[in-house]
This record gives sequence, C-alpha cells and structure tokens, in this order.
Amino acid sequence: MNRVFNFSAGPAALPLEVLEQAQRELLDFNGTGMSVMEQSHRGKAYETVHMRAISRVRRVMKVPDDYSVMFLQGGASMQFAQVPLNFLGAGSRAAYVVNGTWGEKALGEAKLAAASRGAEALIAATSKNSKGSYESAPPVATWSVASDVAYVHYASNETIHGIQYGIDDALPSLEARGIATICDMSSDMLWRPVNVADFSLIYAGAQKNLGPSGVTLVIAKRKFLDQGDRAIPKVLQYRTHDEAHSLYNTPPTFAIYLVDLVLGWIEKQGGLDAIERTNRAKASAIYRAIAASDGFYRCPVAASQRSLMNVVFRLPDEAAEEAFVAKAEKAGFVGLKGHRSAGGIRVSLYNAVTLEAAERLAAFMLSAV
Ligand code: PMP
Repeated sequence: MNRVFNFSAGPAALPLEVLEQAQRELLDFNGTGMSVMEQSHRGKAYETVHMRAISRVRRVMKVPDDYSVMFLQGGASMQFAQVPLNFLGAGSRAAYVVNGTWGEKALGEAKLAAASRGAEALIAATSKNSKGSYESAPPVATWSVASDVAYVHYASNETIHGIQYGIDDALPSLEARGIATICDMSSDMLWRPVNVADFSLIYAGAQKNLGPSGVTLVIAKRKFLDQGDRAIPKVLQYRTHDEAHSLYNTPPTFAIYLVDLVLGWIEKQGGLDAIERTNRAKASAIYRAIAASDGFYRCPVAASQRSLMNVVFRLPDEAAEEAFVAKAEKAGFVGLKGHRSAGGIRVSLYNAVTLEAAERLAAFMLSAV
C-alpha cells in the first residue's frame, strides 16, 4: 500500500487509524453480521453510534447543555439557505461579513431568501480589494451591525483565500451585546477549543476536519432555534431535527459513523488542546519555509490572519506553480493546487494531516527553491 501525503482542501485526509477501523468493521459491525451502512437507522446498533457521536461532540467541544447538536445534510451550502429561511423573518435585517468566496455565497443565499419575504441581508464589513479578491478579514471593531439585526454571519476560515479569524485571540462574537452570532466553521471547526457560548449557531460541513462529506454538524442555542420561522417546510426548520435528535428522516449513517470515529481519535490524541498544538506546529513549518525562500514563495494574506488550516502562496509565475505541483505530486505530495478561482498553491493542514507530512512538505518546498 502506498498512501500519499494528502493536502486536499476537502474532502480531505482522514486519520489512518480511523480508516483502518472502518475497514475492519466494514463487513461485520459489532457482531451484527452486516455493515453499519446496512443497518436500519432505527435499530439499536446504529442508534448507539448516532448517540455516541452526539455526546462526543458535546464532550470534545464542551457544548453547553442548552445547545443542540445536530447532524444535517446538504452541506454547508444548505446552511447558507437554511439560516436565513429560519431567522431572517419578514421586515428583519441580517448583517454579513464578507472576506472571501464563502462569505459571498452565504450573503447571496440570504439575499434571495430576504427578497421573497421583505427582509434585508446587508454587508456588515468586507475586505474585497480592487482586484476583486481578498487578502485580509475586517476586524470586528469595523463591523457595522445595528443593534436590532436578526443575526450577524461570518466565516471563521475562508478556505479558498487562506484567511482565518481568531488565531491568537477569541473568535469575533457580538453575542455578549445581545446580537445573535452565526459562524460558518466549515474549514476550521475542531482545530482548537472554541467557546460555543459565544455563538447562537455554528455549522461545518464534515469533509475537512470532521469526517467524510455528506453530513453537516450544526450546534445551536435552543432558545435561538425557538425563534425560527414556523411557516417554512418542516424539514428546513432546525427545531424538527433538534427534537428528533437528527433522526427525523434517514440520516447519512455511514458518514456519522466516521465522524464518531474521528471524534474518538481526537479524544485519543488528548482532545482539542493537543490538536491545536500539532496544528500550530504544522502551519509554522510551512510558513517558515515560505519565509526562508527569499521571496520565491509569497503569501498574500495579512500576517496576523494567515490561516493555519489552508496556507496559500504564489510562486514567481503560473508556469513555476504548475511545475511545482507536478514535481510535488511525483514526490508523493498531493492536493496542492490552489482553488480554480484563485490559482496559486494551497496547502490544507486539517487535523488528520500529520506533523511529519507538513515537515516533509516544508523540506520539499525549500529543496525546490
Ligand atoms: N463554507 C466554507 C468555509 C467552505 O470551505 C465550504 C466548502 N469548501 C463551504 C462553505 C461549502 O460547503 P459544502 O460543499 O459542504 O456545501
């Protein structure tokens, strides 16, 4: 078996131990004589996995008791729509921070939902530059958020542009001022401990730090969920899934099973404090290589907001970037091509990427200067 060093942006690397356990259990899960995929979602064997996954999220993230933990479908993109459908009621306004493609997309969906119901989705702050791109995130002090907005929304990590909030500080939150704060944590959920109580709702597609694609983790204050619109289809109301413990309809059972194994692996590593230490070491190996390259590699992102999850950089020209990706691939480093909309190189360093992988890539980068 020849496993590569996988730096993909998502779906992304999973811990080898998790894949091996899934492989061992694939044909006969826990003596049931069938795969976990083949079980009824109402049966005992699956229910145990499902409830353990929920309680592991609670334990690993120290989720307060008055918050709901849900496993939903439709990806983070569905959350872009589901959030305004639930919370952007007629006549109300929401404030969106836009510092990358995902913030733009969230705003776009909110505008559509708002238009059909006489509501408004406004830009609280944006860092879009004259080239139409993003190289920083607006500091929370510059966000323009009226005290009566329904909520403020931002993405903690802009996956394509490699810009992250809250690296050396708490994540921005206006929750203490009574403003419901909603955060798209798709590409940095679980990278370190986060104070869940700073948010009314957070969400993440699983396919970066949590498991495979097909399931979205949503954590929300129940009091906030109570305010959600009751006139939209039931399947779109968060309360439906909260009340049914994410078993309202058939959940993505195999994906949730893998998320449960990933959470177990995080606990075995020593929890989120240990995960954070490794993540910082991984990112600093790559940023150090950039800094030591005499300008051959150039990271465009503002120094204090350089993502620890997605390190983006440019080479002198596109031909050099293409050659770098090809040479890296031959050496066993895959998934390094930047997003098609941004170009350049992107090194995704999610939890399952090992320190060894990051250090080996850093050495390769320096040898390629
Ligand atoms: N938000 C962020 C920050 C993302 O990185 C992504 C996916 N790369 C999305 C939202 C969209 O996620 P999905 O494909 O699960 O809808």
